[in-house]
Amino acid sequence: MTEKYIYSFQKGDGKNKVLLGGKGANLCEMTQIGLNVPPGFVITTKTCLDYLGNHQLPDGLLEDVKAHIGEIETLSGKQFGDRRNPLLVSVRSGSAISMPGMMDTILNLGLNAQTLTGLIEQTGDARFAYDAYRRFIQLFGKVALGIDDQKFDLHFAAVKKQAGIKSDVGLDAEHLRQISELFLQVVLEETGKPFPENVYEQLELSIKAVFNSWMGKRAVDYRREFHITPKMANGTAVNVVAMVFGNMGNDCATGVGFTRNPGTGVNEMYGEYLVNAQGEDVVAGIRTPKPVQELAQEMPDLYKQLVDLRNRLEAHYQEVQDYEYTIERGVLYCLQTRNGKMNATAMVRTSVEMMAEGLISKEQALLRINPELLEQLLHPQLDPENKAQSVAQGLPASPGAAFGKCVFDADTAELMGRAGERVILLREETKPEDIHGFFAAQGILTSRGGKTSHAAVVARGMGKACIAGAEDLQIDVRAHQAIIGDLHIREGDTITIDGSTGLIYLGEIAMIEPSFSEELKILLSWADEFAELEVHANVDTPERARMALSYGATGIGLCRTERMFNASDRLPLVIDMILADNKEARQQALTRLFPIQRDDFKQLFEAMSPYPVTVRLLDPPMHEFLPSEHQLEDDIKALNLYKLMIQGQQVTLETLGLQALLPTPFNYLNEDVINKAIAKKELMLKKVKELYEVNPMLGHRGVRLGMSYPEIYQMQIRSILEAVALCTQQGTPILPEIMVPQVITLQELIKVKSFVDQIQQEVESQYGIALEFKFGTMVETVRACTRAGELAQVAEFFSFGTNDLTQATFSFSREDAENKFLPLYNETGLLEDNPFEVLDAKGVGQLMKMTADSGRLTRPDIKIGICGEQGGHPQSIRFCHHIKLDYVSCSAPRIPIARLAAAHAKLLEDDYRMG
Ligand code: ADP
Ligand code: MG
Ligand code: MG
Repeated sequence: MTEKYIYSFQKGDGKNKVLLGGKGANLCEMTQIGLNVPPGFVITTKTCLDYLGNHQLPDGLLEDVKAHIGEIETLSGKQFGDRRNPLLVSVRSGSAISMPGMMDTILNLGLNAQTLTGLIEQTGDARFAYDAYRRFIQLFGKVALGIDDQKFDLHFAAVKKQAGIKSDVGLDAEHLRQISELFLQVVLEETGKPFPENVYEQLELSIKAVFNSWMGKRAVDYRREFHITPKMANGTAVNVVAMVFGNMGNDCATGVGFTRNPGTGVNEMYGEYLVNAQGEDVVAGIRTPKPVQELAQEMPDLYKQLVDLRNRLEAHYQEVQDYEYTIERGVLYCLQTRNGKMNATAMVRTSVEMMAEGLISKEQALLRINPELLEQLLHPQLDPENKAQSVAQGLPASPGAAFGKCVFDADTAELMGRAGERVILLREETKPEDIHGFFAAQGILTSRGGKTSHAAVVARGMGKACIAGAEDLQIDVRAHQAIIGDLHIREGDTITIDGSTGLIYLGEIAMIEPSFSEELKILLSWADEFAELEVHANVDTPERARMALSYGATGIGLCRTERMFNASDRLPLVIDMILADNKEARQQALTRLFPIQRDDFKQLFEAMSPYPVTVRLLDPPMHEFLPSEHQLEDDIKALNLYKLMIQGQQVTLETLGLQALLPTPFNYLNEDVINKAIAKKELMLKKVKELYEVNPMLGHRGVRLGMSYPEIYQMQIRSILEAVALCTQQGTPILPEIMVPQVITLQELIKVKSFVDQIQQEVESQYGIALEFKFGTMVETVRACTRAGELAQVAEFFSFGTNDLTQATFSFSREDAENKFLPLYNETGLLEDNPFEVLDAKGVGQLMKMTADSGRLTRPDIKIGICGEQGGHPQSIRFCHHIKLDYVSCSAPRIPIARLAAAHAKLLEDDYRMG
């Protein structure tokens, strides 16, 4: 054999996760640094790919497996398939990227009728041996032979019921023997063949099954959902590990732990264990495990050893670890370790603390956190003022609060989620096959299992709220309901769960935005030390500006003035302006709008002082301020009916003369008022029809409005400049910028600049002060990109409007693309990402680079930024850093993400590759 397919734990390279899988590499590493790992070996991921490609195991592999089993035999002193002193092994999957619960592990392999009797004689514990046996038959039957779990579960439940036993622990050796017999029968019935007695045949079938699971639906779905490409993980390794037993009695246990609390980041022993149980029992949530602190009482010496194990793991990996262990008759074995998945709060806290402890550097502290994770910190929390009474409590398994309609299975969750409903998934316990329900749900609630159950781990990874082990709840999945005492919660009922406290509430509870922790402030201040890009915010109001400031924004990159127009006290004025059929009438409406806009800008500048504020002149097509044609037609219809009623009122009065008996609303409105309303609505309707455009987004908007209705832009410019004058007068330091949208030609810019120059002169002489501000343009049309060199003659700054620029580059209209064909393009790989979320570096990015280069040629100190939605996306931010933009601007809640991403962009700039 030329290729090396197998590595023993003593030899494998602990750094090579791609070849050995994460689990295998770490088993090698732990063995080699002297931790107590049972002997074993790894079959490489490359072998898996060969097998899947050729539909057969590589030549010589099985001989090599035998040789390595031989090594385990030597180390353990046991023999594989031997009647007197049998070696049992586990067969475990593990790829380069940890995919929790995605592929199945077979335990106790090597048991057959012969070795079973051997095991009974050797341990003197028939109950233990039969327990191991029945577990093996079921797992092997399921994983290697493809038999439905339920076939086994039915028999198991039947024996339990017959014996009148509630908990698995209550079953005795005879029950378990019966169950094993029934299970063997199931295998015979389902496969037509007896259960394989030959232990090497068992091993071969299991290895193949693990390899095949790489292409199983669950694994493929998971990789698609989390964008795990073949470059990141290709194929699964197989780990064959000598079994150690946590279920040989009360001096045995099995547990899982985190080196720090993954919910809060607190530096403490964290985890759960079960006495007299096998590993999977803790994770599966079949019995509710005990917190690790109790081990300190129950097995003090082993607890000390566990603390030592934890310390050694962290010191070695310089990262929080998620580990599995088993205690067999007083001996502690470590069975797995990997980097712990934590929520954002915990990641931030551990980064700051591990840096302070000297365990990691500042760069490591920043780089170990995926910027997107910070979004969780801005997740809603329950309003502490809420007076709602909880109806039950479970374990707080993944923090954050969520409300939604109850569903009891993953398929329904997916269906309702697709239909845009918020759902909470309720299960007794979850399994890997429920994963699509997690994606669709706002939160997860289980009645069994602990904080390290499948539900908890997966929900934490996704940053979704989760409560586990809510034992007060009786979840009846078949009847689609949950029962708490005499309270019935049915499918479709709304509940709220708080994953930070474990409390469950009926109905929807008010939520609040969380505040910044001290640790986050520290971490982001470190990020700012490295970042070269500034982070600005897209905000339009003083309140949002203050919020953005508190998140660490150092400017407003985009203030959309139309948002100010939409406020209820201004909209009527804006409508009058639009309805005006001549310049004078329009000017009148604008004169009334002017002081309002000026005050808006003044407040915004003050809120952001001393940072820059970029104000965009009016951009959207005017019809957006008017109701829709349909709405207006309905209104007019209603008004006409109302008029008829008023006429009816008159007739009533004339006939009966009983004015005093009429209800009040009929007393003051008369036909004149209604006629006025009708006339105005009809005018609006006429205007809406006039303004109709086939494609308004490519129509009369942006600077084109400024060209046709200069008085609108002039009013806005005057409001901005007077606000500047007022701030300057009162000594508030500000850096205002006027930005023109949708520009395609230098002539447009020159024209708007001439308004600015004129008004500047007027305001300066009126206030007797010089005004400081910048004038620039958005770059959001392809023509602006190609004419950037000229535009820079007038523009002192460029701001890429990558929403429109992306539409223009792709010739996609965003709404149509996202609703119709884009999902297909993404799913089939025709396009890797949604270009409206992730900046398309290869296409749009090329235009940006060209624009930046030619703009800088004309005006070397030109300031360049991005204000499209993509400006808050880490991958896009790396590109922006790469082409040396000055700033990115994004919505307020994405600012922490952008700050961290900007630091990453700098720290990782040398290995930047486009797309
Ligand atoms: P997963 O990837 O789902 O965590 P594992 O391969 O880690 O699967 O195994 C499932 C469970 O079986 C774990 O609790 C693990 O600790 C336990 N286990 C695996 N191998 C052994 C072994 N050789 N001896 C005892 N327990 C084992
Ligand atoms: Mg597994
Ligand atoms: Mg594991």
